[in-house]
Amino acid sequence: MRRALVAGNWKMNGSRSDIGELISSLVAELGDGVNGVDIVVCPPFPYLNQVADAAHGSELVLGAQNLSEYSSGAYTGEVSASMLQDFRVRYVIVGHSERRSLFAESNQQAASKFVAAREAGLTPILCVGETGEQRSAGQALQVVADQIDFVVGVAGIAAMAEAVIAYEPVWAIGSGESATSQQAQEMHAHIRGLLAAHDEDVAAAVQILYGGSVSAANAEELFACPDIDGGLVGGASLDAQSFIRICKSV
Ligand code: PGA
Repeated sequence: MRRALVAGNWKMNGSRSDIGELISSLVAELGDGVNGVDIVVCPPFPYLNQVADAAHGSELVLGAQNLSEYSSGAYTGEVSASMLQDFRVRYVIVGHSERRSLFAESNQQAASKFVAAREAGLTPILCVGETGEQRSAGQALQVVADQIDFVVGVAGIAAMAEAVIAYEPVWAIGSGESATSQQAQEMHAHIRGLLAAHDEDVAAAVQILYGGSVSAANAEELFACPDIDGGLVGGASLDAQSFIRICKSV
């Protein structure tokens, strides 16, 4: 049986004091763990150490929002996988649609970052998803298949067994309009089917999260779908009570 996973993507939000309050509320309510659920928080880089210290000894696990595809050297402004590892980071988001659309990250870069994360022992959370136009044009399944195939082509199918996939339809991110549980389940089953064509055991084992306007109101219905193994939560993860309810909705 797959464990569930709920990850909070705090994006570029917060200050030292906001983040201190948020993590201490989460540690107080979720620090002893929630049955069957892995809980990950992904703060901005400068706050990783603060959050690592505050979460130390609790069941909360640290993630990062991005990493460099390079391992070290003259790459001004970049942060490597081994640096994240040094700060007790265990997961890292790769290929988020905001990286793809606002910072022009390609499938190739997402795949390189995926490999860099794995080489440093981090678990990549690979984000895939179609835009609203692509969905309207009936291309959603194909777009997501291409994104997954690219990474499988570069990293190999075995690497997927030690990764997490997040299906995040671009039109649902930050819009307040989540995919319906039916739309999400259809895509999750499609992703699992794509992986099963390479390796059935990997397909059965990989955690596939849904992301895009997950809230305390819709989490339970989404997480009840057979191929949805949890969520990648943006906006609602900044509110401790909402995030706690979402984690307990699994
Ligand atoms: P949202 O963001 O929950 O605010 O829609 C999700 C994400 O971008 O990971």
